[in-house]
Amino acid sequence: KFNKDFGQHILKNPGVADAIVAKADLKPTDVVLEVGPGTGNLTVRILEKARKVIAVELDPRMAAEITKRVQGTPLQKKLEVILGDVIKMDLPPFDVLISNTPYQISSPLIFKILALPNPPRTSVLMFQREFAMRLTAQPGDALFSRLSVNSQFWARCTHIMKVGKQNFRPPPQVESSVVRIEPKLGKDRPNVSWQEFDGLLRICFGRKNRTIRASWSTKEVLSMVEKNYRIYCAMNNIPIDDGLVEGAGDGDEAMEVDDDNETGAPADEDEWGGVMDVEDGDDDTPEFFKEQKAAATASQPVKTPSRRKKTKLGEMIKEKIRKVLEDDTDLADKRSSKCDENDFLRLLFAFNNEGIHFA
Ligand code: SAM
Repeated sequence: KFNKDFGQHILKNPGVADAIVAKADLKPTDVVLEVGPGTGNLTVRILEKARKVIAVELDPRMAAEITKRVQGTPLQKKLEVILGDVIKMDLPPFDVLISNTPYQISSPLIFKILALPNPPRTSVLMFQREFAMRLTAQPGDALFSRLSVNSQFWARCTHIMKVGKQNFRPPPQVESSVVRIEPKLGKDRPNVSWQEFDGLLRICFGRKNRTIRASWSTKEVLSMVEKNYRIYCAMNNIPIDDGLVEGAGDGDEAMEVDDDNETGAPADEDEWGGVMDVEDGDDDTPEFFKEQKAAATASQPVKTPSRRKKTKLGEMIKEKIRKVLEDDTDLADKRSSKCDENDFLRLLFAFNNEGIHFA
């Protein structure tokens, strides 16, 4: 009956459902977004406390079930069911988010909520235990990752309770946890571009167990930084010297790879090996940022020279990166897994100061 592809694990313990709703601290004026209402065990409890519930459900059978459950009751007029994929849709405004999250969308859902221009006051979300631990991990912890930095930079994340697998039907393979995420709002919200900060983190956490220097020396990163720098120069009327470095012959590699990835481990954030029911390998950049970026790139005449020649611009980029990592921040030999948000902010400002952007 339940569809595993949709992460359907129905919460069968009423005590846990009550606790989740209580932890959201709802006001009678609140509009609540519930992701994946399923059969409605959380939904009916939320409806009793809030002004309105917008329930987004991917499975039409479940959408029908929750609609039927409130039909003819006083709760009916407070419920709006939207059929669709929460990750792909534009969200209407809401005050609070509650979800027994389908685990395969954990990462994109968090990124989508944190990047909203008007994020909710609070979110109470059930996740797989390891994902919850990643959200709250500190620098140096084994689970510290790009997700940890982003979530704690943009929000206050608190682990509120452990939930055993026997509380669900059918039981999932792993244990779960409920977390509260309170986005920093108003003057507490960092005055930093989401795309810039996350763009920098993507590079820093590109591979596991690397020094910052190594993360910034791969062919892919150098060519990406060069492309962004060309856009920056085009927008600011800064001339670019596209000449070759003197004495550099054919086949002289412009982009060196300094790969100290001893473990050979895969890209960090996109790998939830073994724990997730469904692999979570998707790019979690919010859709509208991708569109913005594509539009910006399309409007710029960006010429990308052959990667095989040592160009003056390529050398200049390498020197800028060296300067930022060694002279300006002294972070070259540190590993991203040990850096705190202040280190990442210092890196971002130093790169921006050199005209290097990540959005
Ligand atoms: N809220 C119910 C409960 O606690 O018993 C059901 C939770 S179940 C873990 C997850 C629900 O999310 C399922 O009903 C599933 O169909 C729905 N779902 C899965 N992917 C979704 C998506 N991308 N957008 C919206 N709903 C989704």
